[in-house]
Amino acid sequence: MKCSKCRRDAILFQRYSGLHLCEQHFNRDFEAKAKRAIREHRWIESGDTVAVALSGGKDSSAVLFFLHRLLGERRDVRLMAITVDEGIGGYRDPARAGAIAESMGVPWVTASFAGEYGVTLDEIVGRKGTGLSCSYCGVLRRALMNRIAREHGVTKFAYGFNLDDEAQSVLMNALRGDAERLTRPMRETEGMVPRIKPFMYIPEREVALYAFLHVEGFDLAGCPYAGDALRGDVRGILDDYTYRHPATKYSLVNLGEALRRTEKPGAEKMGFGVCERCGERLPERQELEHREVRDATAGTAGARAPEGAKPCGERLPERQELEHREVRDATAGTAGARAPKNDVPSGCDGSSESELEKPGRVSGTEFEHRRCEGAKPCGRICRTCQILDEMRRGT
Ligand code: SF4
Repeated sequence: MKCSKCRRDAILFQRYSGLHLCEQHFNRDFEAKAKRAIREHRWIESGDTVAVALSGGKDSSAVLFFLHRLLGERRDVRLMAITVDEGIGGYRDPARAGAIAESMGVPWVTASFAGEYGVTLDEIVGRKGTGLSCSYCGVLRRALMNRIAREHGVTKFAYGFNLDDEAQSVLMNALRGDAERLTRPMRETEGMVPRIKPFMYIPEREVALYAFLHVEGFDLAGCPYAGDALRGDVRGILDDYTYRHPATKYSLVNLGEALRRTEKPGAEKMGFGVCERCGERLPERQELEHREVRDATAGTAGARAPEGAKPCGERLPERQELEHREVRDATAGTAGARAPKNDVPSGCDGSSESELEKPGRVSGTEFEHRRCEGAKPCGRICRTCQILDEMRRGT
């Protein structure tokens, strides 16, 4: 088959565009899409230090090659690569990633869970089982990447996520009914290094082809713990459907972006919560819990709940959340302590019986104390410290 743009032999057929492309026109088309993504999102600016999260696989190796080609001549933007060795036997040899970075002359930094935390992912999985391996891995890797980023002045993390990854995530969130994730805005969060995804509009097979054409020695092995059953199902469904309706993955990614741009009424800016133990910035979800706890204890001495009576910040059913907020509002501004049980909430003239005063009613805060008895994470310690505590305790 000949290229649709010249008469050379084609190496790729794009079902969604109907074009056959030769190597030269494929490269041009590929890089134009990645550049457009960067331009539209204003992902790279003068003065940036961009760090590629380099696993040594096809996606991250391809993104490193592309960014090196794009930024190599620029003096106002620095490019580097970071490899984290999670400690997964037979997977991800950091030396391979190092060789790829070196072949392009890109500065490379590596770190490991064993060196940073004194424990490997294999050891964690050995104790905890494989069920949550990706959750543990993600939390520890993010914290380690952030530490390295601070040390090296990194302003952007570049990931090799492709169109298939993005489309699968949108569909998975829809199938889970997770409206919060579907509509979570793509805003920058204070204290976190923003992520950029230059290949988010490029199908996985084209990223693989680009890697084969330009990078030598990338890793083809998959992680032995990558067993997300839902993602596997969604990938199969999406690939089948896309074969018949070639633009489907683009439609899903566009839908995801449109939903994230939707202004949420009443959405307020996150504060800047940090882990009380290590000083790491709390992830957004945990920061939200932290603020709920903080609000619930506002006005109490030292703004810290007494030992053994820590609210856990656990999500409450809507009704309890309502009570929780009533208690919070009622106790806000009381000097030195939370409102005693028989205290009349401020704003109430005492003439009518408050909902909270009705016999047998358990207040939101009390409910939280009873449930966690201080044993559950309160939202003030980051997940990394919680995981490491659990490992030390052997739980
Ligand atoms: Fe970590 Fe899961 Fe990725 Fe494996 S698949 S490297 S466990 S996040």
